[in-house]
Amino acid sequence: MVLLSAQRFVREVVFWGLLTLGGFKNLHGSFGRCERGWNPGLEVPLAQPKLQPVPRESKEAKAIRAKKIIAGLQKTYPDAHCELNHHNPLELLIATILSAQCTDKRVNLVTETLLKKYRSPADYAEASQEELETAIKTTGFFRNKARSIITCCQAIMEKHAGKVPRSMEELIQLGGVGRKTANVVLGNAFGINQGVVVDTHVARLSQRLGLTQETDPAKIEQELMKLVPQAQWTMLSHWLIWHGRRRCYARKPDCQSCEIKQLCPRIGVTEPLPGPKPTIAA
Ligand code: SF4
Repeated sequence: MVLLSAQRFVREVVFWGLLTLGGFKNLHGSFGRCERGWNPGLEVPLAQPKLQPVPRESKEAKAIRAKKIIAGLQKTYPDAHCELNHHNPLELLIATILSAQCTDKRVNLVTETLLKKYRSPADYAEASQEELETAIKTTGFFRNKARSIITCCQAIMEKHAGKVPRSMEELIQLGGVGRKTANVVLGNAFGINQGVVVDTHVARLSQRLGLTQETDPAKIEQELMKLVPQAQWTMLSHWLIWHGRRRCYARKPDCQSCEIKQLCPRIGVTEPLPGPKPTIAA
């Protein structure tokens, strides 16, 4: 009886010892294997990378650095432009609505056929929701997008005599058109620098470059507008978007080859940059 209890005691000690070690393995990640089922919650990495502190910089120094960043990007991407194919304001408006949560490449594939079938605001205003949904399905969120396009073109027909309006106030009154879409249309179809388009690339790069600490697109836009001359607002977003697509990738930015690395504090980028530490002094 005593012998049986002793064996059981040893078994229990070994079992719970191993279980505890397993827990430590998962917690600290140094013992390798992570056992699914024991404590699945621990499979989530516990240590989140810390954002680097934003270096202290005066307003004037930041403005000078922003100017140099723009000069660097302008030199790198002299042909930067809106990558949504279009020939007139209506086509750009439709393409921009379709581009939400979708790549420009996919939108261009869809609009290649769509724009041949629907040529005027009246065509969209009178379109069947189902038919339009089918035509734009591969861009995602197709029900909402189809509804936005129809509503917006009905408003263009009823309130603007079939012409896409040329002001921010009027554009954002059309259904399904927000400030970002309005900025795209105003800047690229009408040549009006009314604001800065803040998409995912512009937001990410502005933060990494230490131009803003904001995360809300509307606030990022306001900060960028203060930093950059109005004449460059439209191009600023193109330069940042082009750099975001070709160099400053979301996951693994190619900092080593980056043309403006000497001006970038690399906020939030954790991979070390080989070579001498860049200075952000303007
Ligand atoms: S240095 Fe790196 S983080 Fe900074 S802009 Fe260039 S690629 Fe992006």
